[in-house]
Amino acid sequence: MYRYRLMAPGPTPVPESVLTKMALPIIHHRTEAFEKIVAEVREGLKWLYQTQNEILIFAASGTGAMEGAVVNLLSKNDRALVVDGGKFGERWWKICKAYGIAHDVIKVEWGQAVDAKVIEAKLKEHDYRAVFMQASETSTGVCHPIEAVSKLTKNLPNTALVVDAITALGVINIPTDDWGIDVLITGSQKALMLPPGLAFASVSKKALALCEKSDIPKFYFDFKRELKSIQENTTAWTPAVSLIIGLQEVLRMMKSEGLEGLFKRHAIQAKATREGLKAMGLKLYAPDAPSDAVTAVYSPEGMDAGKVVKSLKNKFNMTIAGGQDQAKGKIFRIGHLGYYDPMDILNVLAAVEFALIENGHKLTPGVGIGAAMKVLMEG
Ligand SMILES: *Cc1c(COP(=O)(O)O)cnc(C)c1O
Repeated sequence: MYRYRLMAPGPTPVPESVLTKMALPIIHHRTEAFEKIVAEVREGLKWLYQTQNEILIFAASGTGAMEGAVVNLLSKNDRALVVDGGKFGERWWKICKAYGIAHDVIKVEWGQAVDAKVIEAKLKEHDYRAVFMQASETSTGVCHPIEAVSKLTKNLPNTALVVDAITALGVINIPTDDWGIDVLITGSQKALMLPPGLAFASVSKKALALCEKSDIPKFYFDFKRELKSIQENTTAWTPAVSLIIGLQEVLRMMKSEGLEGLFKRHAIQAKATREGLKAMGLKLYAPDAPSDAVTAVYSPEGMDAGKVVKSLKNKFNMTIAGGQDQAKGKIFRIGHLGYYDPMDILNVLAAVEFALIENGHKLTPGVGIGAAMKVLMEG
């Protein structure tokens, strides 16, 4: 009865024009026609990343590019610094651990952003080869201070800053070159409005110098080999052809909205979501440094957050996300990155109001939507 509505922080909905492009008959990848597409995508990605660096494209989920960054930048005797403030921060040290790479972890309380001063102190203690962190920690809805950290690593010639921007690129302003980010990672299924299956990593000169020295075994995720290929408008191995054709369309859409337009739309949608939820009497999980990609919010006292997620699913065929690990049952998360507009926000807030009332929370119907509308009117 109800149309399926995907309001999770990834995967996110794919625009109709992109779906139809991807449905066309497959073309061969070693052709002039496909190289032209890759050339356009290559330039489009540089525009989106705000960089002159090349961006490598892998047929993988985002984690593939994360693993790639670890095995290409580091060597066996190197030490890495990891910021862990949630499920995705955790993934950095798990990858390091899998490859036996020495690492220190800065544990950040869930719902909080890392304090750049803690990183500064750590960088004085050890000669770290890389700092691994998230721009937007999707599991907690937190935005980490990338600009402040980039100022610390920029002038260290042998310490790379590696940023997982999978729910940040195309949402908030992260100028790769201005800030001196050495590897910026993203994936297809979040702000890029595509199905899962593509992972991206930009590589700075500093990053490439580390790649030259790296002695960790690697094969598919070989940054040096992929760099050579992308400079020839191709990929080393068979690319995910249909997804790259979809990406061409996505980048055209994003370009027509413009970077400023993208950042502004996401900021307004995020603010409307936050204000709407607060007006329902709910408490934000990350009030101090909220991400504009996803909003995490506590369910009311005594109400399992899983019930809210379930009510939305059962009543409205709508998918939002629950909490993970220590936040399971306590929070639910609404995605507002990618192919959404402000009307989608009113939609999900209305559904949350229904769900809260259904589960016994007292609120005046429309109170959250009203608060969100106010934000949209001011926008
Ligand atoms: C989605 C996401 C990833 C990638 O996860 P995959 O399942 O490998 O695509 C990594 N980091 C963050 C912050 C994410 O939101």
